[in-house]
Amino acid sequence: MPNNRIALVTGANTGIGLQIAKDLSGHGLTVLVGSRNLENGQKAAKEIGANAIQLDVTDKASIAAAADRIAREFGKLDVLVNNAGISKIGNPQGKVEEIAKSGRLSVASLDDIRTIYETNVFGVIAVTQAILPLLRKAKSARIVNVSSGVGSLSRTLGPGGEHLREIFGMYSASKTALNAVTVGLALELEADGIKVNAACPGYTKTALNNFQGTRTVEQGAREPVRLALLDDNGPTGGYFNDEGPLAW
Ligand code: NAP
Repeated sequence: MPNNRIALVTGANTGIGLQIAKDLSGHGLTVLVGSRNLENGQKAAKEIGANAIQLDVTDKASIAAAADRIAREFGKLDVLVNNAGISKIGNPQGKVEEIAKSGRLSVASLDDIRTIYETNVFGVIAVTQAILPLLRKAKSARIVNVSSGVGSLSRTLGPGGEHLREIFGMYSASKTALNAVTVGLALELEADGIKVNAACPGYTKTALNNFQGTRTVEQGAREPVRLALLDDNGPTGGYFNDEGPLAW
C-alpha cells in the first residue's frame, strides 16, 4: 500500500495506544496521537515523531474539532484505531480481581457503569460516526476496535472460563457491547471497502490493570497493528488476538 496513509489512534498518549502509534509510524504512516490531555499527547507524540491531537472520546465538541482538523489538514483518514478505554472508576489500588469485584453488575452503581460504557462503547461509536466521512475518502480504510478477551461470552461461559467468570462485570460487559458494535459497523461498511475488526491485546502491563499485566506493550500492540494494516484480502467483522480468531 502507498505510504501517504494517515492514522488516528485514540488514547495514544500512553500504554498500548502509544505503542500502536509508534508501530504505525514505523510502518510509514502519518500518525495522529489522540489524547484527552493535549500536553500529554504532545509529549508522547514527540517521543515517537508523530503529531498530537486533542481528543476526548466522551466529549462531542472535542470529537468534532478533531474531525475538522483532520479534514482540513489531510482531507481523509485511512486508519482509525479506537483504543481509548477505561476499566475502573477513579484510581483504585490493589489486585485486579478485587477491583473487578466492585464492578460486578449486581453491585456497581449505574453512574459507574454508564461512565465505563461512555468511553468504551459510546465513545467508539461517536468517534467513528464523526470520522466516517474521512474514512470514506480513503481508498481502503480500516477501523480497529481495541476490545478484550474478557468480553468474549463464549470464553467466559466455556470450559476454562473460571477466571473470566470471576471477574465478569461492567468492564467485561462493555467489551462485549463493543464487540457487537464492531460486527454492526463491519456489516454496514463492507460495501464501502472499510474493514472493521476487534483486537484483544492480551493481559498487558499498563495503568489499566495497575501494571499487573504479564505482556509488554510491544506484544499488546501487535494484533491491533496487524489489523490496522490489513490488505484488501483481509477479514472484516472479526475478533482476534495475536494467536488467531477469538470466539465471540
Ligand atoms: P492505559 O495505559 O490506561 O491507556 C488508556 C488510554 O485511554 C489512555 O491514553 C487514556 O488517557 C485513554 N482514555 C481514557 N479515557 C479517555 C477518553 N475519554 N478520551 C480519550 N482517551 C481516553 O490502558 P491500556 O491497557 O493501554 O488500554 C488500551 C486499550 O486496551 C483499552 O481499550 C483497554 O480496554 C484495552 N485492553 C487492555 C488490556 C490490558 O491488559 N492492558 C487488555 C485488554 C484490552 P489518559 O492517560 O488521559 O487517562
